[in-house]
Parts: sequence; C-alpha cells; structure tokens
Amino acid sequence: MMVHEQLGIYKVRLPLPFRLNHVNCYAIKGKSGWWLVDAGLSREATREGWMQFFEEQAIAPTDILGIYLTHFHPDHYGCSGWLQSYSEGAPVYIGEIDADRINRYWKDENYILKAMRVLFKENGMPDDILVKVVDSIDNLIPYTSPHAELTTLQSGQIIELGDHVYQVILTPGHTDGHICFFNKEHGVLLSGDHLLPDISSNVSLWPQPGADSNPLENFLRAIHSIRSLNCQCALPAHGKPFSNIEERISQLENHHQERLELIKNCAGSGATAYQVCQQVFRQDLSVHELRFAMAETLAHLVYSMYKGELEVSLMGGVYTYSLKR
Ligand SMILES: [Zn+2]
Repeated sequence: MMVHEQLGIYKVRLPLPFRLNHVNCYAIKGKSGWWLVDAGLSREATREGWMQFFEEQAIAPTDILGIYLTHFHPDHYGCSGWLQSYSEGAPVYIGEIDADRINRYWKDENYILKAMRVLFKENGMPDDILVKVVDSIDNLIPYTSPHAELTTLQSGQIIELGDHVYQVILTPGHTDGHICFFNKEHGVLLSGDHLLPDISSNVSLWPQPGADSNPLENFLRAIHSIRSLNCQCALPAHGKPFSNIEERISQLENHHQERLELIKNCAGSGATAYQVCQQVFRQDLSVHELRFAMAETLAHLVYSMYKGELEVSLMGGVYTYSLKR
C-alpha cells in the first residue's frame, strides 16, 4: 500500500505471532530499484508477505538495492539475512551500536539467556516464572537467523532511499542504537519503534554492563529531539502513519512522568522490581509481555535512582528499591 507518493514509499504490513500482531516494513521505489526499511521476523509468514509484495509490484530479486534496519529487535532485523540472500547480496544497514547488540545477543545465545536470568533473578522474579521468561527469549532467537552481513551507519549520515535523501537520526531508548530515517524535504520520518501512534515504545533495561545503564533518560532526550526536526508525517513500525508529532511526543512524555510517579510510589518503603512490576502492569500478560514489563519497570526504577529519588540495596542477592529518605 502506497503511503507517500512523492517519496515512493509503500507500507508492507507483515504478521507477528504476538498480541502486537503486525510490524510495518516499508519499501521505497526509485528509478534504479527498490530499498527496504526493516525486515520482519525470520519465519515463513514473513517471507510469504514479502513475496506477495514483490509479485504485486513486479520486483525482481536484483531490483532490491539496499535494506535499512531501524534496530536489532527480531521483528525488524530477523528476516534481513533471508532478504539479503534473496536479493543476491543487497547490503543490510543498521546503526553501529545495534550491530554490536546483534553480535552479542543473537549470535551468542548463551550470553543473553544467562545474563537475562541473572538480571531478573536479582530483581526478584520467582524461579518458576523466570524459567518461562528465559524460554521465551530462547524461542525468539531462531527468528533472527540466517544472519545478515551488516554494514553500519553513523548518526547524522546522509543516505539515499529511492530518489531522495534521508538523514540517519540516532534515537536511543527503545534500543541503545535505534535509528530513524528523516527526509527533510517532505518532513517525513521513518520512525521505527521510536515514535508510535497508539502504544508507548518499550524502554527496557538490558543486562549490565554492555548496555545503556539509563535507557529511559536517553529515550526522553531522543523523543524531545524529534521536535526540532519539524516533522510533518511519521511512518511507524506499528500502527498507522500519523502527523500529530508534537502532540504525540507530549503524550509520551506525560505517560513516562506519570509512570515514574506510580513506580516510585509502588517502591515506597521497599520493593523489588518484580513486585513493582506486578503492581503496575495487568496480570494477564503473556510471558513474552511480562519480560518487556519487567525490563521496562527496571528502566523506570534506575532512572529514578540516578535522579536521586530512589535508593537501592542488595540483600541476599536481591535488589530492593525504596524512596530516598
Ligand atoms: Zn522494537
């Protein structure tokens, strides 16, 4: 489906086997061929979705000239290796920080499973739930292979998608190295998961060291920085294109301020991240969603800790957060 005529941008909606049931990838038509933004999970339903789009638009494999990824998550990176070999070697681009995360998280299964187990255990998650949560990560890893050979992008770099230029904008928070692509001429932002119309982007603390120690601070700074772009239209990875960018940024800032207050109050005189998470999020979450909820709770707790509003103590191998007296 065409979403921006002058820029030649088409939306390719691909299915996801989660409650969030789709990811929007984009395909951009130029005089010499096609460029893709984000890839979907590596699974049959994704490959069928791409093949259907390629047939509709009469795109031959070698018409695909480049694949640009906003971030390392499996629903964005996953199918890029397949697209690379299908296109007979189109370069796959991603920000340099997220390229590092792919090597660490998706190519070294033992590291991420062990590190997540430690992070959630020392933050109070009970063992029976922890086993299921770690399994849910293990289940995601196959969605990332075959791996693509990556070319890295720098913040501020100018790239060409179709017949137009875009700037690479580093927007950390949802992932440490998330990038958006901005066409200044038409004020169009390919916003990935950084700015979404209906849901707030997940902002997660990942195992330390080796990941951003205060991702929420960087997220808030990065959504604020979008204001100065004078963006007219955002093309998000989930949900519909939207133009109320200012209003959406304010909504998200308010959401996180309210969430920070709630989480501080839940910590009160002492609670683990898991106990806070249980109070803040609804109880019918899938294991996959619980993992996001727990890591998001941690991102808010450490934000308040760095701000000096919460303190943390370690007892019996478990961290407890409480209001600073
Ligand atoms: Zn994501």
